[in-house]
Amino acid sequence: MPLRPTISFRVGVSYDVLSNRASTSGGAFLQCSNCKKIIFSVDFEQNLHVCPYCGHHHRLSARHRLAITVDADTFVEHDADLRSGDPLIFPDYPEKLSAAETKTGVHDAIVTGLAEIESLPVSIAVSDFSFMGGSMGSVNGEKITRTLERAAEKGIPAVIFCASGGARMQEGLLSLMQMAKTTAAVERCRDAGVPYISIFTDPTMAGVLASYASVADVILAEPKSLIGFAGARVSKQAGVSKVPDDFQTAEFVHSHGMLDRIVHRKEMRSTLATLVRILGSGARQKGSS
Ligand SMILES: [Zn+2]
Repeated sequence: MPLRPTISFRVGVSYDVLSNRASTSGGAFLQCSNCKKIIFSVDFEQNLHVCPYCGHHHRLSARHRLAITVDADTFVEHDADLRSGDPLIFPDYPEKLSAAETKTGVHDAIVTGLAEIESLPVSIAVSDFSFMGGSMGSVNGEKITRTLERAAEKGIPAVIFCASGGARMQEGLLSLMQMAKTTAAVERCRDAGVPYISIFTDPTMAGVLASYASVADVILAEPKSLIGFAGARVSKQAGVSKVPDDFQTAEFVHSHGMLDRIVHRKEMRSTLATLVRILGSGARQKGSS
């Protein structure tokens, strides 16, 4: 099942994390779903949806993430019209896809294309948790694969922001197949000598964590992101031995060597640019030779 997001409430106006509609037009204040403190909506926007009191990184839509990450007017979207079919004739799947499209304005749980970060070209993909929990079905996997292949073909770095509850159950094995397919595409980047940077955002779980997300050259994460395979409740039901309360946080997995660095949202763009500048130089030389 896709994870359900927490819902915060703006004073007077509901603030729906699921749809990421945090427009300031409806009210001057909102309440942080983590620390419960009241925040000026303008401050919340200027702080990139990070709570100024507790530092909680609230979820962003794919469009919002792109807007704060890449250079203005450089993003060229690819494969925007790809839409999932209903190969298993799964009950209510077409209706759920249609409702998610209406809610989010995107056709699947990921937006992909080419862009520049501090004038450095990248092939980029950004997951959108508000679309069916960011779940990876056949379209999602195909767009990830094409993002990695574009990077390899053009000799530019691949940058992928992950936000997913895992594989999409409505497409069954076709969803699980995307794990192998996307992981194989990462190898094409390796063969081409281009770097691949993965960023775990809240949440990065299950089939996504167990495939393309975890095999990047550099893995970053936003603070306190939920990162894991099976959720804590499932682990307990399966009789897994006692685990620390924070065992699926970015901080815990970082301390156990599963990712390279935890980066505050305000520093993500400059950090990516620095990495691309350092790691991408060899790839560009190779691509241009
Ligand atoms: Zn807070």
